[in-house]
Amino acid sequence: RFESQIPFSEFKLNSDGLIPVVTQEYKTGKVLMVAYMNEEAFNETIRSGRMTYWSRSRQELWKKGDTSGHYQYVKSLDIDCDKDTILAKVVQIGAACHTGNESCFFTNLISRSYDTTNPMTIFDEVMATIIHRKENPKEGSYTNYLFDKGIDKILKKVGEEATEIVIAAKNPDSDELKYEICDFLYHMMVLMAERGVTWKEITKELAGRH
Ligand code: AMP
Ligand code: ZN
Ligand code: ZN
Ligand code: ZN
Repeated sequence: RFESQIPFSEFKLNSDGLIPVVTQEYKTGKVLMVAYMNEEAFNETIRSGRMTYWSRSRQELWKKGDTSGHYQYVKSLDIDCDKDTILAKVVQIGAACHTGNESCFFTNLISRSYDTTNPMTIFDEVMATIIHRKENPKEGSYTNYLFDKGIDKILKKVGEEATEIVIAAKNPDSDELKYEICDFLYHMMVLMAERGVTWKEITKELAGRH
C-alpha cells in the first residue's frame, strides 16, 4: 500500500476538476500520452498500481487497458512545481495509443531542424548550455573543467585555438579551418560566460559599428 506524499486536495485542478497527466515509459523516458485524472482516478491508480484516468469523452473512470489489454503499471507519480500537472512513469504493456502506436505523439507539427543553421540560434543555444554548466556543474564536463581551471586556462585555450585557425587557413581544404573556427568560437563563448559578456551585447556593438 502506498500513500501520496501530497494529498489530491492540494493539487491545482482545471475548471473541470481534472489534472493533466503526462505518462512516460519509465525506462526510456519516452512520452506515451497525456490524459486527465480526477480524485477517484488518482486514488484508484494508487490503490491498483495501474494507470487510471478520467475519460472526458466518455465521462467515466477509465482504467487504461481494460478493453485493449494495453495496461500501464505505475512506477512513480510526480507532481510539478505548481502542482497542476502529474508526471507518471509506467511500464507500458502493448501500445499506449488507441491507434496502435507506441506513443500518441507521432504527428510532427514543426521541427526545429530547419533553423539550426541560423547563426544566432545556435550561438544562443551553445551559450545557454555553457551557462547552464557553469551554474549546474556536471561530472566529466569539459566546460566545467575549463571553469574550474579558471580564466588563465580559458585565455590560453582561446589563444591556442586562434593560432590553430591561422595554421588551418594555410590548408587549401577548408574542413580543418571549419573545425578550428568552431573550437575557437566555443572557447570564446566559455570566456564570454566567465566574464559575463552576452551575445546581445556583442551583436548590439557590431550593429552599432555597421
Ligand atoms: P484502453 O483503455 O486502452 O483499453 O482503451 C479504451 C478506449 O480508450 C479506447 O477505445 C479509446 O477510445 C480510448 N483510448 C485508449 N488509449 C487512448 C489514448 N492513448 N488516447 C486517447 N484515447 C485512448
Ligand atoms: Zn518549475
Ligand atoms: Zn505546472
Ligand atoms: Zn493516442
